Amino acid sequence: LAADDGSTRPTIFAEMTALALATDSANLGQGFPDADGPEWIRRIAAEAILQGENQYPPGRGIPALRESIAQHRLRHTGIAVDPSTEVLVTAGATEALAAALLAFTGPGDEVVTLEPFYDAYAALIAMSGATHVTVPLRHIDGAFRVDRAALADAVGDRTRVIVINTPHNPTGTVLSADELGLIADVAQRVDALVLTDEVYEHLTFDGARHHALAALPGMADRTITISSSGKTFSLTGWKIGWAVGPAPLIEAITAVKQFLTYSGGAPFQPAIARALAAGDDDILELRDSLADRRDLLVSGLRAAGFDLVVPGGTYFVCADATPFLSDAAPDGAAFARMLPGAIGVACVPISAFCRAGSETASALSSWVRFTFVKDERTLRTAIDRLSRLG
Ligand code: PMP
Ligand code: GLN
Repeated sequence: LAADDGSTRPTIFAEMTALALATDSANLGQGFPDADGPEWIRRIAAEAILQGENQYPPGRGIPALRESIAQHRLRHTGIAVDPSTEVLVTAGATEALAAALLAFTGPGDEVVTLEPFYDAYAALIAMSGATHVTVPLRHIDGAFRVDRAALADAVGDRTRVIVINTPHNPTGTVLSADELGLIADVAQRVDALVLTDEVYEHLTFDGARHHALAALPGMADRTITISSSGKTFSLTGWKIGWAVGPAPLIEAITAVKQFLTYSGGAPFQPAIARALAAGDDDILELRDSLADRRDLLVSGLRAAGFDLVVPGGTYFVCADATPFLSDAAPDGAAFARMLPGAIGVACVPISAFCRAGSETASALSSWVRFTFVKDERTLRTAIDRLSRLG
């Protein structure tokens, strides 16, 4: 990794959380819940520790968890997978992404992602030695949508992997069936693999429907679906994630994973196995409460004077800070770094999700991301402070 590509600096999330703590700010920067997931799930992990689930679990994950992941997938997408060969438990979605990119790509290959993109993608693509090519999500008619012509142009003979993310961090876009169809077409045209990062699969609002790319015709054989219990059960620190896909691809990812962490999360695996098997009550409760908190933050940001895109999913809302820019804070990055000290609110600039100097970085240079996965009091404090801007 070249030190000058930015990958060795603390992430924007760590930087903004440190700034939030130093300024006693309402931290709407880093996306993690400030209320832990269901107590009954946490008790299972606590019991597992006491009962002796403290040594290395199997490298692919404990059978009960792989079985639950397969059942959960069947229930939600209609896709049947073999838990013994087509499911791999990983240290969060992050390890699944890392192991897959290292397994499938190297120097000379191109990896296509949407832009803006979750920051880890750029760093992991750099680690693999591949070249990162991006397709803009464009801000059109109050939404962020895939630029179809740019997608067709970006994907070519050197494209080895296309990484998509739906529901999308940071924009909150839930990719439509049409957009996914287009991605499936280009992937098949050039015989590329697709990694689909679906960590927010359950966090959609207003009836927006999450579509699983792997269910599209011709995609089952070339798609690795990545998800994580962190977002679904508000247990982000447990780092229990997974990759699901065709056996030969899972085999290749496992080969890399065994030398990254080998295995992990012994007491958490049985807890997540039970959580996934338990039905959807907890998931639906989280989704409904997040929808209310999204509405609260959206109306607060609008009242403060921000233009924004109402997200169909995720933890995040993106807003244009143009009305508040000045010589001292001329863009979203400067605004985000100024805000904690000035009024006690932290957010994250969208430029952190873009390649330096890219067309998207410039189109969204005044935009910032706020998270609403915080308790109502923190959100109200932030809204009150933001109302004093301008
Ligand atoms: N992908 C996306 C789009 C994310 O937003 C995040 C983190 N919140 C991750 C992957 C990482 O997930 P995990 O914590 O399970 O590694
Ligand atoms: N995914 C979280 C976010 O987007 C942060 C995770 C991290 O700190 N790496 O805010």
